[in-house]
Amino acid sequence: MADINRDTIRSENVDIGFIQEVVDAGANRIRTCMQCGTCSSVCPSGRRTAFRTREIIRKALLGLKDEVLSSPDLWLCTTCLTCLERCPRQIKVTDAIIIMRNMAVDEGYMLPSHRKASKKLLETGHAVPLDEANQEMRKELGIPEIPPTVHQHEDALEDVKKIMKRTDFQKLIEGQESEEKE
Ligand code: SF4
Ligand code: SF4
Repeated sequence: MADINRDTIRSENVDIGFIQEVVDAGANRIRTCMQCGTCSSVCPSGRRTAFRTREIIRKALLGLKDEVLSSPDLWLCTTCLTCLERCPRQIKVTDAIIIMRNMAVDEGYMLPSHRKASKKLLETGHAVPLDEANQEMRKELGIPEIPPTVHQHEDALEDVKKIMKRTDFQKLIEGQESEEKE
């Protein structure tokens, strides 16, 4: 994510309704953020990456919608909830990040790895394929090599597909694919 500077904050980049959308979706105390940085300091992901929780919140408050939603940093949060527990303003920081991720996907921003896993889910009912290595590990752990899912109940795959179609998940993924091809 780019630093906040004069180039970043231009009026044409500001969406004044953005933060209200985040609030309406459930992050109702986000406007009380005082930029103390506690969320960044306790964030385990931030210790290993350039991800800065406080910065995402700041940019969201500034209305830098595209900047926030298009940033791969938005996906570096592990949703561990530590920031939510420590925020002195009791802001649901993790919820705000999840809300913005949902918005990002709706706007067509999805990481290639997530798209790949989603496509796998559409095709097979599983995001992670059951390969020989996985089966071997399951055997070592003393659990059935084939899990009691669509792998054991192939007829249930049609039901899973129906759910994904009715919830518009299929449309979302296929939409992402066609946008990528354009
Ligand atoms: S801990 Fe809370 S108040 Fe402090 S910067 Fe993070 S979100 Fe804002
Ligand atoms: S929930 Fe996300 S942003 Fe908050 S501390 Fe954990 S990894 Fe960091």
